[in-house]
Amino acid sequence: MVPVTTDPAVLELDDVRKYFNTERGIIDTILRREVNEIPAVDGVSVSLAENQTIGVIGESGCGKTTLLRCIAGLYDLTGGSIRYEGDDISEFGSRAERAYRRNVQIIFQDPFNSLNPKKTVRKTLLEPLRIHDVENREERVYDILRQVELDPPERFLDKYPRELSGGELQRISIGRALILEPDVILADEPVSMLDVSTQAAILKLLSRLTDEFDTSMLYISHDLSTVSYICDTINVMYLGRVIERAPTLELLDDPKHPYTQALINAIPVPDPHNERERTQLKTSPPDPGELRRGCRFKDRCPERMEVCDTKPEDVRVGEQWEVACHLYYDHEETTARGSRARAETDGDQQMEHPVPQNTGSTTGAGPTAGSGSAAGDSGGGGRE
Ligand code: SF4
Repeated sequence: MVPVTTDPAVLELDDVRKYFNTERGIIDTILRREVNEIPAVDGVSVSLAENQTIGVIGESGCGKTTLLRCIAGLYDLTGGSIRYEGDDISEFGSRAERAYRRNVQIIFQDPFNSLNPKKTVRKTLLEPLRIHDVENREERVYDILRQVELDPPERFLDKYPRELSGGELQRISIGRALILEPDVILADEPVSMLDVSTQAAILKLLSRLTDEFDTSMLYISHDLSTVSYICDTINVMYLGRVIERAPTLELLDDPKHPYTQALINAIPVPDPHNERERTQLKTSPPDPGELRRGCRFKDRCPERMEVCDTKPEDVRVGEQWEVACHLYYDHEETTARGSRARAETDGDQQMEHPVPQNTGSTTGAGPTAGSGSAAGDSGGGGRE
């Protein structure tokens, strides 16, 4: 799914893939069986513009944390590229890598374990300044504590993590990430371990500070309500792929992909008289090491059709809205385009799939079973 944006990107992910090998057991070795690859992230393209906050949402195991670790440079990519201000991060020398580490900071999920228990707040906040040789360190520490609303700073400077509450710890984590005034914050479910009232306060704080510091943010979570509070655009991820991307309000108002619909229907409504229709998903997600051909959501999808045994195209259904689902495009047109492209490329097996232009939503007017084989060539390989 190719991001649709006209703003200059500070961070650009293009077809990012990260596969893990499963461990080879004794039986596999004796029988010389192939070791399965698990496509934790499988062809994700995301663009983060200056001062933009985008969200990545999905169930645990969908690949969102792996994606964040790839961006942070903690994993080598299996394929694709990540560009920071136009430069491929895999080609950085030590100087550029150091600058990247300074300019792209992470806020971790667990504030109780992400801070060193043996370091006081003062030492924790001074450390990144010392590593990157920043001047006026004491002054900056005082400033950032006030910014994260731990005021007066003297009250907190000499405390250890065990002496602070969860909310205070996460404020320190946010302060540590922002103290170097980075271009990008990678937020890994930063409020999921906090109680609800603290969550709201931390989300407000993050939103205000990313504005004030002119920082872009990639925010990942399994919780659609927190993502929708803070993000301009949401990417919905399922088993390693982005299956829907849209501006937040539009996505919440009229989700297209059946999986997104299920996520939104699952958000509790604080009104006993509002009986929201629930989408019942079949089964649990398949084993990522045993993915079958076609749409990865097909075993759980209430709208499944025969054509879903082939990989769905990414379809534009709004100006900045894309969805990967067979319900939203005309398969005959796609097939005709595919045939023409195949003729032009003289049977090139690696041909790019034709992507139909805006065909609008056609929910309820999905392809017939007969169109299944027609779209079949647009799918990926045997195991996707
Ligand atoms: S492609 Fe088919 S199985 Fe997949 S979400 Fe769309 S309708 Fe459901």
